[in-house]
Amino acid sequence: MLKGYVPPYNATVVQKLLDQGAILMGKTNLDEFAMGSGSTDGVFGPVKNPWSYSKQYREKRKQKPHGEKEDSNWLITGGSSGGSAAAVAAFTCFAALGSDTGGSTRNPAAHCGVVGFKPSYGLVSRHGLIPLVNSMDVPGILTRCVDDAALVLGVLAGHDPKDSTTVQDPVKPFTLPTLTDVSKLCIGIPKEYLAPELSSEVRSFWSKAANLFESEGAKVIEVSLPHTSYSIVCYHVLCTSEVASNMARFDGLEYGHRCDIDVSTEAMYAATRREGFNDVVRGRILSGNFFLLKENYENYFIKAQKVRRLIANDFVNVFNSGVDVLLTPTTLSDAVPYLEFIKEDNRTRSAQDDIFTQAVNMAGLPAVSVPVALSNQGLPIGLQFIGRAFRDQQLLTIAKWFE
Ligand code: GLN
Repeated sequence: MLKGYVPPYNATVVQKLLDQGAILMGKTNLDEFAMGSGSTDGVFGPVKNPWSYSKQYREKRKQKPHGEKEDSNWLITGGSSGGSAAAVAAFTCFAALGSDTGGSTRNPAAHCGVVGFKPSYGLVSRHGLIPLVNSMDVPGILTRCVDDAALVLGVLAGHDPKDSTTVQDPVKPFTLPTLTDVSKLCIGIPKEYLAPELSSEVRSFWSKAANLFESEGAKVIEVSLPHTSYSIVCYHVLCTSEVASNMARFDGLEYGHRCDIDVSTEAMYAATRREGFNDVVRGRILSGNFFLLKENYENYFIKAQKVRRLIANDFVNVFNSGVDVLLTPTTLSDAVPYLEFIKEDNRTRSAQDDIFTQAVNMAGLPAVSVPVALSNQGLPIGLQFIGRAFRDQQLLTIAKWFE
């Protein structure tokens, strides 16, 4: 839809980096309009995970007779900001930006073995970021270590008159102290996150991480986020409804692609959108318009907004009970091969993959995925820390201690 389009202005995050002397090397690939969890649905083709070519993974794979061509079984990066994660993982740049509406920065970070940070909603301007779900979108930061993420956050954070959801509070510097004593911390482990689909390896690294905090004197307690099981469905209704509305601007008139059909304005709109959007985007526009129909609005959209509040309140209750951060998996497993990923219906797959990340966006909280270990296959596994709203610095300080 946006082929050949050159934006007439810079996003605030881009301008802030330029103002600090950053060198912007290019734009990275992603799922079309940031819809997806694999980076397999981009207009430039799927993103390959650099770990597909790592020595360990290749050696492990040689032991398994698959009968496929050597290159046919490369791994997905996760998504939707997979190109950004791959660029950082492959040491082609210092840091990359992504976006995070339901996990799109944290998910590929976990699969590519890098740090993926989603700031608190309202801390970093969305001006210039193409919206997916306006009330959940945040620019994300991908780096190789937590200190680097804090450095970039320090440049990006702050009020922007062009984004009225950014907070007015003056931003303090984001340099991270080195934590030496975690004994005063309380780490929450949400019991609902022990999903049946969670791989045994991720599960075991998750409990090892909890044990590490405990052995260093931190209080580690089981907590409950009782509305977790509604989060994927709730996100789906809210996301597709906002997509239906947001995508209306791509009509072939103002900018972007326009089809050759000129029999009527309606026919031009329809053909432009059919040609310009992939199946995932068109599917979400259709679902969203269904949820927004007059007869469905109360039952779906309004109900989902109420459920969203319950999901957000679960976090508030846990943090009010004295928990400093939550420790959870980021993804269900390590990266899967592309051919396996596309076997299933991508939309269903995407939804399942976001189980640990989406609720955070509905609550507007900061969260960071940090690489924790390599799986048996020699692939990275990440764990996620979730913090209180606007305690981004505390969150990153704890993540830095852990990494
Ligand atoms: N996978 C989710 C979706 O497709 C989240 C995407 C995102 O965070 N941009 O909606």
